[in-house]
Amino acid sequence: MKSKRLFRELLLAWHREKNKRVMPWKGEKDPYKVWLSEIILQQTRVEQGLPYYEKFIDRYPTITHLANASEEEVFKVWEGLGYYTRCRNLLSTARIVTENYAGTFPSDYDSILNLKGIGAYTASAVASFCFNLPHAVVDGNVLRVLSRFFGIHLAIDSAQGKKIFTQLAQECLDKDQPGEYNQSIMDFGATVCKPVPLCKQCPLNKKCVAFNSGTVADLPIKQKNIVKKERWFSYFVFSFKDETYVQLRTEKDIWHNLYEFHLKETAADPEWNARKIKDWLELDLKIKAIKNIVVLSAKKQILTHQVIHGYFICVNIDQKPLFNLSTKGVWLNNAEIKTKAFPKFIHQFTGREALQAQLL
Ligand code: SF4
Repeated sequence: MKSKRLFRELLLAWHREKNKRVMPWKGEKDPYKVWLSEIILQQTRVEQGLPYYEKFIDRYPTITHLANASEEEVFKVWEGLGYYTRCRNLLSTARIVTENYAGTFPSDYDSILNLKGIGAYTASAVASFCFNLPHAVVDGNVLRVLSRFFGIHLAIDSAQGKKIFTQLAQECLDKDQPGEYNQSIMDFGATVCKPVPLCKQCPLNKKCVAFNSGTVADLPIKQKNIVKKERWFSYFVFSFKDETYVQLRTEKDIWHNLYEFHLKETAADPEWNARKIKDWLELDLKIKAIKNIVVLSAKKQILTHQVIHGYFICVNIDQKPLFNLSTKGVWLNNAEIKTKAFPKFIHQFTGREALQAQLL
């Protein structure tokens, strides 16, 4: 118990005297803004998320403004952040709060936790920062700090580990100032006790078990890494005059309801060459009027459970093909394409200005 109190005191002293981390939502009491920042920052670095936060607040100053926006418009604002389920849940929750709570965020932990896309971490952040409720945040940063300071060699992702660490986090919490405490441990994990920590200048090092036993590099312990599924996406970018063919992803899969080019997915690297591409276009898609073809390798994208590899195959044609009329495919000009939301994987292609000018 004594070591938990000491940990809390050292951490809060560091926060008061040395914590220089600046973020626009820090000290924020408006639950809409805190919630929005937490959702944006899930699986996203602060530097990447910051312009999105500002864009959302600028465009939707209150949760009701967000609730009244269309899904297509909000997707466009979110475009480039990835993990689109977050965006979908964001909109659902904005609508629930507007309809069921008259636009005022609920102020008790269980009601916050019940909202769509809000887990224990975000619920604790909103409850403690905005309503001073005693709920400790637990995320990767917090687990790293706790496992090292207390020298706990239990897998943080095991059932037992989750239970023990959640309990420990709650016991360390300063119940009188839960928001301040949560902010300090989040910032400490992000700036001092980082994956490669700054132990020599850490004000907690005299009492840190991992530092004093030479086990910092071993902690935190994780069970095995997730085996990621490898997928190969070949995107055929069909251009006819000043139009390009795009389609909506409607299947239950990643990037649901985002736009893409015509896709051919293969189980392994298709190792395209000009002959293979022409054969496939002619035999499978009945496309013969081809002006030219350019093949580009895509940079792989690593998602939580998948790795996406692929190609962009630009095909200039003399006549519109009749493929896939059953899908939500459309021919659009460059200006129209810019109004649609595409997955990040496709941005690496659409971002190539020279190619855009030439092919879109
Ligand atoms: S001494 Fe190192 S490992 Fe221990 S709390 Fe400080 S930064 Fe983390």
